[in-house]
Amino acid sequence: MPRGPTGEDDARLAARRLITLGPATRAPLYIGKKNFIVKIGRMKVYTFPRGGLSFDDPAVPPKDFSVVAFLPVLTVVPIGSGTGGRVYPLVNVGERVKEGMLIGRASGPGEANVHATVPGRVARKIPWKDNEGNSCNALLIRMEGSFDRLGRREEVFSWSGMNCYDLQRIIAEYGVVEMEGSGIPAAEIISAFRRAGEAGSLVVRCVFDDPWLAADYVLCRERLAAVVEGSAITVRAAGKLERIVFAVSHQERDLGEAMLAEAARWDIPAFLALVGSRYPQRNRRELELVLRNYEKKEGPALGSLLILGPATMAAVYDAVKFKRPPLDRYVAVGGPAVKTPQVMKARIGKQLGELFAECGGFVAPPKHIAKGTPLLGRAVLNLNEPLTKTCFAVFAMLKARSADHPERNCIGCGECRNVCPVGLDPEELYKAINAFNSAPPEGAAECHGCGCCEAVCPSQLPLSGVIRGNPQGERYA
Ligand code: SF4
Ligand code: SF4
Repeated sequence: MPRGPTGEDDARLAARRLITLGPATRAPLYIGKKNFIVKIGRMKVYTFPRGGLSFDDPAVPPKDFSVVAFLPVLTVVPIGSGTGGRVYPLVNVGERVKEGMLIGRASGPGEANVHATVPGRVARKIPWKDNEGNSCNALLIRMEGSFDRLGRREEVFSWSGMNCYDLQRIIAEYGVVEMEGSGIPAAEIISAFRRAGEAGSLVVRCVFDDPWLAADYVLCRERLAAVVEGSAITVRAAGKLERIVFAVSHQERDLGEAMLAEAARWDIPAFLALVGSRYPQRNRRELELVLRNYEKKEGPALGSLLILGPATMAAVYDAVKFKRPPLDRYVAVGGPAVKTPQVMKARIGKQLGELFAECGGFVAPPKHIAKGTPLLGRAVLNLNEPLTKTCFAVFAMLKARSADHPERNCIGCGECRNVCPVGLDPEELYKAINAFNSAPPEGAAECHGCGCCEAVCPSQLPLSGVIRGNPQGERYA
């Protein structure tokens, strides 16, 4: 297996070249360590107290603009995710479908309605298995006929007179899911929050702690008004939300201020919290931690937090204002094996191989392709795999992932301890689990699988996978 001069693969080499450890190397001034506030110029930046990584990656596409991908001749549309409830197909092989037409009706928790993203004919039904082992059927749609939405002036619907139930119904009907994470239907998340009955805040998570979040960044810039209005709609839909907090990485202060200015159009209190950009700042635990500190220092009592990302907000906006399901996804296509990395706006269902082809193809045969980020990613099993609602990045590596390399012994360098944001001792946990071949010991449950420890381990030990009880876990750094 090809290896670098030190025996490390290219993802790890890139990460190790660029990673700087811990807050001390980045924080110009600590106002008070307990408060986790960093002062940068005249900005107060809220950050978590320990561990984490700051890194860059030259193989990430530039964040200046998005490139609109060609419309796909064939789209692959999985009918359901195979994870919880069921999705009942509403069309058969040979039938015509329209752009945005409902073709799968969700039933049960965890599943969202499925829509055709291009007009065409259902060519085949194929068994589909995703890279997490979930299986379901997928429809292969061959594009033909005219587009009902693309290039046309769409009817705009007002939501001013709608109550939370109307809005939740529309968000569910048009198949909006949490676009940056779990893929859980957004209406389910919103309704669970409303049923919990506590007043709270919507947190729009614009935290770019990983350069592979380039697609969300470009979306925020290009669809700022949609993100903000989608946030206002979500506040109404959840019933109990009293304010919006834009949690924005401090380097993107101008983006946060533009969001705040745009939010002034809506009769909802809005705030800007500048947060750190050290990975994993966007994790729920780290984000809540800094927002509670922000709450203490800057006033607004936040209550319960409903945390959603900008792509979800834009999808809520499309569903409510235009009765349009998610048809496109901003996705970063890059990695050392890709000729021209770029952020693309592509139809959901387009095959990943076509995205790579539109980026000029590969400079050499890639050894490993994955989606997500090099720190937390999932292998792509074949290039026919479709772009999904939750896929924000796909990347191709020239060398194999570190998990495929032989492990070496722990050299006791302690780097894993330095970077763990939870304050765990990954080395000890790993050794304890391996020695007794047992269930993870106490403390391991605190691990949220950020992958920081694994990214810095010079012995390439699968630390976070083992600690979380998943030794074959997909980690790429
Ligand atoms: S994966 Fe777990 S043990 Fe490793 S750094 Fe993250 S929280 Fe700590
Ligand atoms: S980083 Fe790896 S080699 Fe260093 S102490 Fe932790 S487990 Fe051992």
